[in-house]
Amino acid sequence: MSMLLTLAEVVEAGTKAGSPDLQQIFSTATYIIAGICFILSLKWLSSPTSARRGNIVGEIGMAAAIIGALLQHNIISYEWIITGLVLGTLIGAPLAIWMPMTAVPQRTAFSHACGALAAALVGTAHFYIAANVGPALDHTTMAILCVEVLLGALTFTGSLMAFGKLQEILPQRPITFKGQNYFNFLILGLALATGVVLSINPSMTMLFPLLLVLAMLFGVLLIIPIGGADMPTVIALLNSYAGMSACLMGFVLHNQLLIIAGALDGASGFVLSIIMCKAMNRSFTNVLFGAFGQLQTTAGGPGEKRTVRSGTPEEAAQIMEAAQSVIIIPGYGMAVAQAQHKVREMFDQLTKRGVDVKFAIHPVAGRMPGHMNVLLAEAEIPYDKLIEMDEINGEFPQCDVALVIGANDVVNPAARHDKNSPIYGMPIIDADRARTVYAIKRSKNPGFAGIENELYYLDKTFMLFGDAKAVVGELARQLTEGGGH
Ligand code: NDP
Repeated sequence: MSMLLTLAEVVEAGTKAGSPDLQQIFSTATYIIAGICFILSLKWLSSPTSARRGNIVGEIGMAAAIIGALLQHNIISYEWIITGLVLGTLIGAPLAIWMPMTAVPQRTAFSHACGALAAALVGTAHFYIAANVGPALDHTTMAILCVEVLLGALTFTGSLMAFGKLQEILPQRPITFKGQNYFNFLILGLALATGVVLSINPSMTMLFPLLLVLAMLFGVLLIIPIGGADMPTVIALLNSYAGMSACLMGFVLHNQLLIIAGALDGASGFVLSIIMCKAMNRSFTNVLFGAFGQLQTTAGGPGEKRTVRSGTPEEAAQIMEAAQSVIIIPGYGMAVAQAQHKVREMFDQLTKRGVDVKFAIHPVAGRMPGHMNVLLAEAEIPYDKLIEMDEINGEFPQCDVALVIGANDVVNPAARHDKNSPIYGMPIIDADRARTVYAIKRSKNPGFAGIENELYYLDKTFMLFGDAKAVVGELARQLTEGGGH
């Protein structure tokens, strides 16, 4: 609405002056188009069937936003902008093309770090231009600018820490020390106090670097006590901070599109982190301050000697071929092995034989929300065969075979009853309620939460040890060649 008013105002002002400022009108119109595209994009990205459309519309929106920004009158030199565009393309394009799917979480963290750094730098430049060249900033603008720079700077270093943990450059385990939370709050308090003093007296320029340093330090301290397992949730939260920073930057620069895009980014990142917390049955405070992700060494942990039963792909193929219903539960291991195309081959073979095959999708299977949907969509498995956890769990007691492909934590029954388990309370896929379970993984190693999985020790469970792509490929081969008979 405010965008439409702005456009009307511009036309009116231009017409009154006798010559409508076409460049400004065009710029505002592209901003409106961009805003609409971003909203539609978010809407369509929420379903696998419309996600591709959502992506394309988002890209069109971003192109419109860039064109609109480049038409702004206050741009006096294009050289630096073109240099930035070329540099950004040189870094961004190879990242998008060559980074493997399994590295998407750390790539996202890196992108947030860059975006947040940009927001912090724009705020910093705006502050020093106002201080040295003028016009001086009023108290409200200064307060907004301080929050913007604070969020941008802490998100920059926080995202770099998240990137380091996910890339295993830094230890994945929580790094903690005594009185850590108090110390962190002290640093945040000092940063906020510096911002308040600066807002009251913007001419105290020597305080500005202190605000930046404290914010960056807080970003590091906020992330190091969080375990690698919680990093994707933290990244969604950092995404939200970067969006809020961009939104505030829009207020400082009087740029409506930044306000809209930043607000959408901030809100969607926040909602996503809430969804992820719910799916793991964790609270925000527990994710941020719970130091989750230490290896469990209590009873039932990896130290205890228990035996599992191994199966062979031949037997598994025979059993699945004779089954009426098979539910496949994909997890992080399928992503690592890039087994989705082999899974598709096996799916085709089974459905050809009249077996009812469905996929059970856990909201946090893999390492990012929608990870399994993306991979299975890439292999062109029909969307209607991908069933969300809550919907499919009721079908397991009637299911002949549950085939677990590289999933671990999301099928661990300990989440239901073991109060000492770090995943206690996390909703899981009820694979253990199927008549027979086959589980594909390479070893007896635990999953991301670092805990043993009771499912593997049940009488009805048979392990198919090996790389998911190789094992599923062998299952598909057995079915194709009729080896399952
Ligand atoms: P897990 O990390 O629990 O388990 C993955 C399993 O895959 C491992 O046990 C591993 O066993 C196996 N594996 C690895 N590579 C291969 C391979 N090449 N072939 C076959 N198997 C392989 O994954 P889940 O998907 O079950 O659970 C996701 C975890 O991530 C949960 O704890 C969730 O809370 C957490 N998480 C997920 C988020 C998300 O957004 N998706 C966000 C935050 C956290 P082995 O080494 O023996 O092969």
